Amino acid sequence: MKLLIKNGIIIPMAPSLNLAPLNKGFPGSSGGLEAGGLKARENLESRNYLTGSIAVDGEQIIHVGSVPESFVPDRIIDASGKIVMPGLVNAHTHLSMGLLRNYADDLDLFTWLNEKIWPVEAHLREDDVHAGSLLGVLELIRSGVTAFADMYFYQQSTCRAVEQAGIRANIGATFFGDIRETEARLSDHERLYQVWNGAGNGRILIDTAPHSIYTCTRETLAAALEFSREKNNRIHIHLSETFRENSDSRKTHGVSPAAYMEESGMLERPVYAAHCVHLDPGDMDILLRNNVIPVHNPSSNLKLGSGFAPVPEMFSRGMLPALGTDGASSNNNLNMMEELHIASLIHKGISGDPTVVSAYEALKMATISGARALGIDHLCGTIEPGKQADIIIIDTHVAHMQPLHDPISAVVYSAQAADIQTVLCAGRVLMEDRRVLTVDQEKVLRQAAAQGASLISRSRS
Ligand SMILES: [Zn+2]
Repeated sequence: MKLLIKNGIIIPMAPSLNLAPLNKGFPGSSGGLEAGGLKARENLESRNYLTGSIAVDGEQIIHVGSVPESFVPDRIIDASGKIVMPGLVNAHTHLSMGLLRNYADDLDLFTWLNEKIWPVEAHLREDDVHAGSLLGVLELIRSGVTAFADMYFYQQSTCRAVEQAGIRANIGATFFGDIRETEARLSDHERLYQVWNGAGNGRILIDTAPHSIYTCTRETLAAALEFSREKNNRIHIHLSETFRENSDSRKTHGVSPAAYMEESGMLERPVYAAHCVHLDPGDMDILLRNNVIPVHNPSSNLKLGSGFAPVPEMFSRGMLPALGTDGASSNNNLNMMEELHIASLIHKGISGDPTVVSAYEALKMATISGARALGIDHLCGTIEPGKQADIIIIDTHVAHMQPLHDPISAVVYSAQAADIQTVLCAGRVLMEDRRVLTVDQEKVLRQAAAQGASLISRSRS
């Protein structure tokens, strides 16, 4: 199928497309706009946007800006006046925790996990995870997410939901607890990898996901490392989420969590690490020299009172953090537009410096840097010829988006998830005019409500 996304305001997130001389102004504001002409904010080369069209052939983007007349589309999506940008990447979540949304709030991480979450999760079944995953993919697509990284249980059920929904995902084979628990899981992990790695035409990848250094014994971490080496996949872990995680690590291991990870050999693998809230300069050096990609989860960190990652320092050291929502039980939603907004604001407030984490830097975290974290930046994260068509279209014909002086600022500071009209992943339209086409919304909502209630009642019986 050949698709033409016509006459949009394209934010490609791809400096390599910045080939034309920079211009000031905005399409329509001062005339002189030609289709395919690049516009950019002065002095900020990479903050570019252009007006024009995108040609998609099958799964792939083949032209951006000007589309030759020889391209004859089967279908045209009119994007006039709308913002067209890469799909968002949610680089850290636990999809099925949506079943525990608004179940346990206003607690610190350790009380929340020990007293509320883990006792319920002990009763978790495969059908819970399937219902929670369908709810999660529905929520993700509706907030413009086309790729995400997940860490949870009964991962095959999440893979089934991902395959059905048409979204892209790195699903973690989860390591947790002592070596006996780990050995009991290894055959499931092997099957998960064999069945699902590369499934959905390459949209699904299986990563290695040791939960954290405080929930995995040394032997379990070693088994996770071995699994990652053998499968040559990425490691997804929670790191330095709380002050207590750091002080416990120093007591137990004599070093910080980051140093412990390095000592244990984990950082020889490509690693993306959720939270990274409590890092001292030595920890930053460790992450930097091992190319660890931090995943910033501001909503969850704020809600659990954990603090939040030192993102401006990360940027100044040349690190490129990604962005994630964490689970909908500690956030309490999977709304990446909201996450983008919060990530762009909190660092300005705490530092007293409004120039830190610019709108463009925040947008990078939510797109190309997320794709880098998941190791799929050769496929998505930008709008460029040759990449997969993971694209979202945002309505601007609403009061809170006008006048549209700067589309990048508009996306980060003004747009709401409900403004996202259309979502494509690998060239397939997953949502059109706010209607998700690949899952039955009413059925998913009904099942999730019933399954969530059933899970809680099982945990209490
Ligand atoms: Zn998490």
